[in-house]
Amino acid sequence: PALVAPPDAGVDTHCPYCALQCGMTLRPGSGGPEVVERPAFPVNRGALCGKGRTSAEVLSSAVRLTGPLVRGADGELVPAGWEEALDRVAAGLLRVRAAHGRDAVGVFGGGGLTNEKAYALGKFARVVLRTSQIDYNGRFCMSSAAVAHQRAFGLDRGLPFPLADIGATGCVILVGSNLADTMPPALRYFAELKRNGGTLIVVDPRRTRTAEQADLHLQPRPGTDLALALGLLHLVVAEGRVDADFVAARTTGWERTLPGVMAHWPELVERITGVPVPRLRRAVALFCDAPESMVLTARGPEQQAKGTDTVSAWINLCLATGRAGRPLSGYSCLTGQGNGQGGREHGQKADQLPGYRKLDDPAARAHVAAVWGVDPDDLPGPGPSAYELLDALGRDVRALLLMGSNPVVSAPRARHVAQRIAALDFLAVCDVVLSETAALADVVLPVTQWAEETGTTTNLEGRVILRRKAVDPPPGVRTDLEVLGALAERLGHDKGFPADPEEVFDELRRASAGGPADYSGISYARIAAEDGVFWPCPRDAAERTPDGAPAGTPRLFLDRFATPDGRARFTPVQHRPAAEEPTPDFPYYLTTGRVLSQYQSGAQTRRVRELNEAAPGPFVQLHPRLADRLGVADGEPLAVTSRRGRAVAPARVSPAIRPDTVFMPFHWPGEGSANTLTNPALDPASRMPEFKVCAVRVEKA
Ligand code: SF4
Repeated sequence: PALVAPPDAGVDTHCPYCALQCGMTLRPGSGGPEVVERPAFPVNRGALCGKGRTSAEVLSSAVRLTGPLVRGADGELVPAGWEEALDRVAAGLLRVRAAHGRDAVGVFGGGGLTNEKAYALGKFARVVLRTSQIDYNGRFCMSSAAVAHQRAFGLDRGLPFPLADIGATGCVILVGSNLADTMPPALRYFAELKRNGGTLIVVDPRRTRTAEQADLHLQPRPGTDLALALGLLHLVVAEGRVDADFVAARTTGWERTLPGVMAHWPELVERITGVPVPRLRRAVALFCDAPESMVLTARGPEQQAKGTDTVSAWINLCLATGRAGRPLSGYSCLTGQGNGQGGREHGQKADQLPGYRKLDDPAARAHVAAVWGVDPDDLPGPGPSAYELLDALGRDVRALLLMGSNPVVSAPRARHVAQRIAALDFLAVCDVVLSETAALADVVLPVTQWAEETGTTTNLEGRVILRRKAVDPPPGVRTDLEVLGALAERLGHDKGFPADPEEVFDELRRASAGGPADYSGISYARIAAEDGVFWPCPRDAAERTPDGAPAGTPRLFLDRFATPDGRARFTPVQHRPAAEEPTPDFPYYLTTGRVLSQYQSGAQTRRVRELNEAAPGPFVQLHPRLADRLGVADGEPLAVTSRRGRAVAPARVSPAIRPDTVFMPFHWPGEGSANTLTNPALDPASRMPEFKVCAVRVEKA
């Protein structure tokens, strides 16, 4: 593809992958557009990981979809024109709705969709389809942290401060994040932390490349992060390190929380977690001796059936020590997906309306309905969460429109999910490539991707940024917004679904005005001029920029928390075992995660030569002692079996993992699919599945 103007200077844009949303420039190269560094962008300051560096390859991949596909009479997907394909989608959705009702039609979105697409998809579900059955794969990403954030602070923004603050604090506890593999450019902030005399504590069952850089590595059993946090807080109390003034002035609920904390005495916590008491004491000393400190969590503690309570336990630690709502201190969540933050704010989540409003709040319904020009009573109510929606396919939900997700690889209990998808009466998928899920569709609509379209995303700091169109898409491809507009028209709505992303963003601003995630003071022009604007940014904000524009909010909660009384709320929590603990039949823990050179379900990165050569397939990481016990050598095939299925992949023997635990990356389908094994046990508050821990048997294959 050729670069759109101005081709010589290149086009400043952002990486299509993770939540860091690294800034980059696309310039013309000999074989097509090339990624070059953009040092002026403040988040990554020019640094890119291999995924970002090679991201232009996906633009010209030979496996790219360049025309719609429809299921032919012989059951194969065959090329079709756009009109026929769109007609088929509209007819498929209408047929199911007529036969089974509005809630028999579902919509499944993605955390990589731009804010504009997430907004339009949610509006399409509620206004055009009038179904309550919409959720998205971000539910599998950070939903536990989102709920815990809300209940403690009254507002959920991944980082309540800019990433740069990490470099200037005194101590960071990083819980369940392997940044060195997932977002390497962010490591610079941890290097700054250490250069400035600060310390890093990493909590992870594996000695990852991130853990190797820690001053202290705590290596708990999978699924015991909650007990670990309680044990640390117990020691904080026992050693007289509670910040009583902060607790009294800025929090509520400490008295109710304290008994549960004191029930988790250090020796008990050592038994539960496997982390020795002296290491717990050392962690408390590092955390509390620093004048400022932070806790950052990621998928490790969050992707558990008690993920919300686990995050609350870490927030409680911050609150009791006065490490929240103060400069250079606080709790935050490192979001994973490219638009993991914005994707959850604008209405593709089962229980939410744009602006992070609640779907069951009458005032929120009235505000958004007025923007949409519909009767609030016509808006459906909250629907089921992502896994529950997928589990209902082919039964209660008979038709599905899926955009920007590949649940056949990325959902828990993946083989079952694939069976449910195959049982649908009708499936339409919008995607860039023929993913494993798209291959099951009745109609596949090829859509534009990152550098072929303009749109905003919101990075893990809450910084709203602009991904500019840099290249023309291949002929035969349309944008997701164009697809939604064309489908809406076929379903009787000839207005309200513009194809111009800026027009959609302007409507999103109005819909978000006055809500928790208020974008009303943000515009494309401002984002371009300022390289991102932090929400909340109400158009009538008292604070203004030197140009007179409403100021964004890089740091939250410095004066008050976003709760009705302005105080942060402690949540009493208790340790409880994982939904599945090892048994004689399934004696080991399985935990899952990402590797450096692949991203999520691999739909894009598995098609990039350099990344594929670096990480060509799945593996099972296991400790040498376990390998000896099984009589397996490095590279030999191992069968890993859980109550849901069996996966086979080569052994990777390493002392970096606990002897009672095996690890598998989840980027691949087929025989080595880690998600064949994972447990869909759901967190009661967030409906997050328990990706991070289940019980397995491990044998030579
Ligand atoms: Fe892209 Fe994330 Fe890598 Fe940055 S860290 S280049 S956003 S994948």
